[in-house]
Amino acid sequence: MNTTRPPTFFDRVVAATPQGELLSQCLQCGTCGGSCPSAADMDHTPRELFAMTMAGLEDEVLASNTPWYCVSCYACTVRCPQQIPITDLMYTFKQMAISSRRFEHRATADWSESFIGFVEQRGRSFELGLATRYHLFHHPTQVVKMGTLGWNMLRHNRLTFRPRSIRNIEQLRAILEKAKAIAEKEAVG
Ligand code: SF4
Ligand code: SF4
Repeated sequence: MNTTRPPTFFDRVVAATPQGELLSQCLQCGTCGGSCPSAADMDHTPRELFAMTMAGLEDEVLASNTPWYCVSCYACTVRCPQQIPITDLMYTFKQMAISSRRFEHRATADWSESFIGFVEQRGRSFELGLATRYHLFHHPTQVVKMGTLGWNMLRHNRLTFRPRSIRNIEQLRAILEKAKAIAEKEAVG
């Protein structure tokens, strides 16, 4: 008799994440959420998402906006007492949500994709372009209000009109291309 059970949602998340097995060591201490600059916008803190993953709540986890508001700052990862790869887990959730088409917050996905697009092209975010694109597509009625805020930030040199690239952007692009090639190879294998 074959007693092998199919992998659970937790098993698949662990297998898809470098050092993902550490997730089973989560203490539910909440340090990750307390360190997260995007926590106020997330519908679940990272700690909650991990508890839900352990409980097998696949649909709820993959419908969450939490990974899409993650800006990959690694603040949670460096502070986690269990060295859990929290940022990488957020990428795993995003990949699983896309491939299973269970993510419903298109606006948040667009925000994330725009942010990544600017970083890939310039090596840094371009806040004015990011906010303008997001609000024009998803909250056009907010554009005037946001425009006032943006103008005040421009006056105080907190925003720039034009996107600027980091030095040695070609090196960053080469690294990103290499990383994508490795990820694609691993996904196939
Ligand atoms: S900081 Fe680490 S151990 Fe604490 S809740 Fe977050 S993932 Fe779990
Ligand atoms: S890496 Fe993501 S989840 Fe972690 S603190 Fe930064 S924004 Fe929050």
